Amino acid sequence: MRWRDLMCGEVGSKHVGKRLAFAGWVDTRRDHGGLVFIDLRDASGVFQLVINPERAPAAAEAAHGIRNEFVLRAGGEVTERAPENVNPDLPTGAVELQVDDLEILSRSTPLPFQLDEEGVDETLRLRYRWLDLRRPKMQRNLRLRADMVSTIRREMEADGFLDIQTPILFKPTPEGARDFIVPSRLQKGRFFALPQSPQILKQLLVIGGFDRYYQIAICFRDEDLRADRVQEITQLDVEMAFPDQEYLFALMERMCAAIWREGVGDEIATPFPRMTHAEAQARYGSDKPDLRFGLEIEDVTEATRGSEFGVFANAETVRFIRVPQAFSRAELERLEAFAKEWGAKGLAYLVFAEDGEVRSPIAKFLSEGELAHFRSDPGTTVLFAADEPAVAARVLGALRLHLGRELGLIVEEAWRFVWITEFPMFEWDEEAERWKAVHHPFTRPAPGSEKLVLTDPGAATALAYDLVVNGIEIGGGSFRIHEQKLQAQVFAALQLSEEEQRRKFGFLLDALAMGAPPHGGIAFGIERMLMALGREPNLRDMIAFPKNQAGVDPMSGAPSEVEEELLEELGIQLHEQGN
Ligand code: ASP
Repeated sequence: MRWRDLMCGEVGSKHVGKRLAFAGWVDTRRDHGGLVFIDLRDASGVFQLVINPERAPAAAEAAHGIRNEFVLRAGGEVTERAPENVNPDLPTGAVELQVDDLEILSRSTPLPFQLDEEGVDETLRLRYRWLDLRRPKMQRNLRLRADMVSTIRREMEADGFLDIQTPILFKPTPEGARDFIVPSRLQKGRFFALPQSPQILKQLLVIGGFDRYYQIAICFRDEDLRADRVQEITQLDVEMAFPDQEYLFALMERMCAAIWREGVGDEIATPFPRMTHAEAQARYGSDKPDLRFGLEIEDVTEATRGSEFGVFANAETVRFIRVPQAFSRAELERLEAFAKEWGAKGLAYLVFAEDGEVRSPIAKFLSEGELAHFRSDPGTTVLFAADEPAVAARVLGALRLHLGRELGLIVEEAWRFVWITEFPMFEWDEEAERWKAVHHPFTRPAPGSEKLVLTDPGAATALAYDLVVNGIEIGGGSFRIHEQKLQAQVFAALQLSEEEQRRKFGFLLDALAMGAPPHGGIAFGIERMLMALGREPNLRDMIAFPKNQAGVDPMSGAPSEVEEELLEELGIQLHEQGN
């Protein structure tokens, strides 16, 4: 049997007079005297059915019991709507179906929420995800996702990249998150780790002679969850032998341009600008600067060295932003509390009021020469951070973003891409009291930084790069270490003993000793890219079946308990909760 002749969204004036069948869900139902109107919805759109008891008594009888989300099949004649009934907002709004036969294919219990309801609780939406997925937004998001992946594949394959799958059950691949582990029944007491990314495997593929690899890979990271974090992410993963940064950047720019053009119809300008990590930190207080607005950070450390204001004279750095608004005391107090949350000790300010007056408890300590650096138009507030460079950057970076949003300074419709380059190799981990890799331990030191790995790790820069759009980090990668000796030195800088190096990464070290070509690559977060492309603040709305913020799937209840027997087979014993 043929369920339907045409999709709901495809019908138009050219079908008038034709007898056709349609199948789909009841989007809405309205009773008008004897007539029943049903908006029938399928994946392509919505089409109005008219059920007239005089024309089709049996259908009219059936129509009375119909509720939203029932599944119907309707046959009849496509007719022009009366002029007063034409709906210009609907692509099919000029026509309707005069129903002759109506069949209820499937019924629905009362719905936990209406599909057009705003602000439905997310847990409820996830619990009934199959309903939620029928909403136009989710339909759009997942189509955008599929189209994006298809564009990516086309672009990568056009340049000779080969799609190769790598295992899900593997060994830890450090990307800075906690590992998910899976117990092995056959090797009792041993565990697989789910890959945080195919990092080592893609390097091995290139060492194995596949000199251009890509994969749409699932990566597992046991992280605490936020709006822009989930535990299962999908990545476009790329690696190549004999890499050339100009080639790689141009390829990724071409791919992004195609994604944006085909996804949302926007032409984005290439090549993307580049900025070093140090510059991004200094000017925007962030390694993923949102360039859709100004409010740049300025540095006055030198000019305030001899200041009578001790806080400025003694601070390692003094930086500020100029905000185009004269804040009140109450507003400044709120901003100070905000700055303290980001690690500031206080928030010094100068308000250049509309009346020309300068309001500030610190103005009296500043010389005319110093003040000249900050002098701004009336209606401006200068906000300072006087601290270690990292803290000053963090505080002003956070204030900049906060105020950019709050004061509506962000040009929402802009697309501002930027490559961030020259990352540091290592950062000091206060808690663990040791160096850790900023990207990952396989990242190559920049030429000239190789020696610093052992002598002055904090000063070493990496051949690593990130791609940022509108303040969202969508991609990141690096050139890799292809020399066994250098890799061992980087491991040593990360305080991995030789024994640990062998145990965790012996296979990589062996591979590096057997003709490993220079190589490098990049990975893009598919969901992050979709968030940017779809201007969607919630990463989970870009995923068909995500977990909630507690790492639980409210639909299936996963993760769930397992049978005692299974645990026994695995040699696992559970402690009582709280032990
Ligand atoms: N493996 C890295 C990541 O997942 C990307 C890369 O270095 O290619 O972030």
